[in-house]
Amino acid sequence: MYNEGRSKKEMEMTYMEEMMTGMINNIFFIIFPIVVYQMFATAGQRNFFVSHRVTMTILFSISIILCMMFPYQFLTDQYIFDLRQVPMIVGALYGGPVVSGILFLVSSIGRIIIGGDGMYIAILNQFVIAAGVPFLRPLYMRINRLGKIALVFCISIASLLFNMFAGAFFFGDPLHDIIGIWVMLMLNQGTIIVLTALLIEHMQRQEYMYNAMLKHEKMETVSHFAAAVSHELRNPLQSIKGFIQLMHEYEYSREKQLEFHQTILEEIITAEDLIDDYLVYAKPTYGQLEPITVSPEVHHVLKIMAPYANGKDVVMQMIEMDEHARILVDRQKFQQALVNIIRNGIEAMPEGGTLAVSVKSSPAKVWIEVADEGVGMTKEEVKRLGEPYFSNKIKGTGLGMMVTYSIISQMNGEVLVDSEKGKGTEFTLEFPNIASVSK
Ligand code: ADP
Ligand code: MG
Repeated sequence: MYNEGRSKKEMEMTYMEEMMTGMINNIFFIIFPIVVYQMFATAGQRNFFVSHRVTMTILFSISIILCMMFPYQFLTDQYIFDLRQVPMIVGALYGGPVVSGILFLVSSIGRIIIGGDGMYIAILNQFVIAAGVPFLRPLYMRINRLGKIALVFCISIASLLFNMFAGAFFFGDPLHDIIGIWVMLMLNQGTIIVLTALLIEHMQRQEYMYNAMLKHEKMETVSHFAAAVSHELRNPLQSIKGFIQLMHEYEYSREKQLEFHQTILEEIITAEDLIDDYLVYAKPTYGQLEPITVSPEVHHVLKIMAPYANGKDVVMQMIEMDEHARILVDRQKFQQALVNIIRNGIEAMPEGGTLAVSVKSSPAKVWIEVADEGVGMTKEEVKRLGEPYFSNKIKGTGLGMMVTYSIISQMNGEVLVDSEKGKGTEFTLEFPNIASVSK
């Protein structure tokens, strides 16, 4: 077939080029859902699929369809090949039986539309992958990275071996003629599936480390609070103790006793509330973005910060409060960011002072302002804010602002800083106002 006057060498070149182009396209189809996932996943789950199961299934289905729509010739024109097995296997391993079942349906319908001789073998093969691979999932989740690589590689090879023997059995393809090509195919698909699994594992590890850091930073703040809270708890406990001793020593009138009981009850509720507030704050949960009204959240944060501020002779003042301002955030993370900024404000005033908090809004934006009259920062220090481990405090971690910047930008907000050395600092959190959107 030396048509169009091309030499054999040239023909092989175009084969090679076409094959490479086709293969690279296929690789792209597989990688793109993973990258898209990375761009949008902020829920902070360790499992690739758990947080966005539906999205991931749809994205992987698209991968499979694209791979099938744009197959490529592998080495000779007899072999048309695509990499749909990669998203199928990876999807089954990370997503489990339900995801696997859906991917099977998608790939089978696609394969039926393509038609041709190989259809039954291909569908049978896809069925074996979809039904069998989920059983390996518990093992896959347990083993280390090297084990995972070995396992996906072996599954990929087993699946291609199945195709090869089925082809030999049903169509009588002489094995010794095609074995070379199949070995190449196995290496090819094996390498790509290993790279895919490595990419997912790498992303999960990063997500995991990021969450571990968030948690660490929060625990550090909580442990700082612990002293302030136990100090604050001492007041109600002291007064409860006092009343009980009084009642023990004298025989009071019924009326007086009831009055004491009432006071004791109130003190217990105060103590309970204090503990509850902290427990809610300390709980490491990662939620979804939800629309919230800013006012109660800010009040809540001021309440949990009160013992800490009291301990440092800082008065927190609400200057202006827009009761209607609403923003779209992850409630817990929003609180964490606000706590970090308020805490820094309090710590910037070692001699005590006033911390002014305001919530303002325009139709488009909401601003939460926290202003202290503390030590302030130079321009260079402001620039370094948010850098990990940048801290001017003896016991500082330099993680608070880094976490704050990252949380706020995840929620489409911005952190603005206005500071003057020796005068004070104003932090502003700026968010899109959703109250105006929903009206
Ligand atoms: P840490 O509080 O553990 O030091 P942060 O990341 O919260 O870490 O803050 C980093 C540094 O930024 C602080 O050490 C401090 O020097 C500076 N800083 C942050 N907020 C203020 C503020 N309100 N006033 C003055 N300096 C601040
Ligand atoms: Mg801090």
